[in-house]
Amino acid sequence: LSAAADRFPLPPGSVIGILGGGQLGRMLALAAARLGFETAVLDPAPDAPATRVAAHTITAAYTDAEALVRLAAISAVITFEFENVPAAAVDALTGAGAAVAPPGRALAIAQDRLAEKTFLNEAGAPTVAFAPIDAAADLGPALAKLGHPLLLKTRRGGYDGKGQAWIESPAEAEAVWASVGARAAIAEAPADFIRELSIIAARGRDGELAFYPVAENHHEHGVLRRSVAPARISPKVQAQAERIAATVLTALDYVGVIGVELFERDDGRLLVNEFAPRVHNTGHWTLDGCEVDQFEQHIRAVAGWPLGPTQALARVEMTNLLGAEVDQWRVLAAEPGTRLWLYGKAEARPGRKMGHVNRLSPLKG
Ligand code: AMP
Repeated sequence: LSAAADRFPLPPGSVIGILGGGQLGRMLALAAARLGFETAVLDPAPDAPATRVAAHTITAAYTDAEALVRLAAISAVITFEFENVPAAAVDALTGAGAAVAPPGRALAIAQDRLAEKTFLNEAGAPTVAFAPIDAAADLGPALAKLGHPLLLKTRRGGYDGKGQAWIESPAEAEAVWASVGARAAIAEAPADFIRELSIIAARGRDGELAFYPVAENHHEHGVLRRSVAPARISPKVQAQAERIAATVLTALDYVGVIGVELFERDDGRLLVNEFAPRVHNTGHWTLDGCEVDQFEQHIRAVAGWPLGPTQALARVEMTNLLGAEVDQWRVLAAEPGTRLWLYGKAEARPGRKMGHVNRLSPLKG
């Protein structure tokens, strides 16, 4: 352990390993390069977006033990951009002597909605009321305890609103559970939110904390469409979001950037929906709104560098470019006050995140 601790801060020229080669990995690799690091990206797809900008690429499954050992051998630290990396992969990397950040425990908790909400409540971060659903027989007691409607979510594998369905009445509960695959699930009380917010935060190797201004988020068909930051919220709500993020980061002994999704209720109280143990789509505004964006911040944290400033220099509206919307690149590139980020994906499948634009405006006004 002390040998691992001695390697930090990593000097420029060190290799940072990244599990996952999507757009988040690509923007991490770009940020790492700017600080003089090299990156090594492991992804099952040979043409994954991050592989086009990384010095080293390993094309292999996340369960390929030999490939993980190879990644560990060339990397001074290993991080991830993809949170469904199997826990066994993190164990294999740690076993091969690699320093992994954020900690595997954060990943394991975030992969299981029941473990996540249980952890959050125990740590003191408020969530909606919930109940585990392991069998059809659990539906009745959950409805008796929480009332209805209830949002049923599979414990594992759901993302962008997939694996979720509302139980509107007790009579349809079994059918709804069947519709999400009759798999281990969690039933959640409605959040009754007026807005969806998120906070991007970071914790350094020395325990230093940093918080970005909260973003306001808008989803369409379960997929993030737009984030606006800094959100027009009171300083008290910002402080509440920071307290929640600090609680989570500290309880996990976390190193790196985290994204915490929040519900804002009409009384100003915040509830945590979930956290992502990685850089987050609702933090893309920081690329053009802050001196040090979430990607550089994450690289700084895992490399044991001091964290950078997080205040907003502009108001930013971030819009995801989904599917064929990316074909508008010519128009968007000519738009004043707009910065275009494209992920280099060959195939613009419907709904696929192909890029995003950040539209900047002055902070005041
Ligand atoms: P998730 O997959 O947990 O991020 O949920 C996707 C979206 O579903 C969220 O962004 C919310 O819009 C909505 N949602 C999630 N949980 C709840 C809840 N308990 N009550 C109401 N809406 C929810």
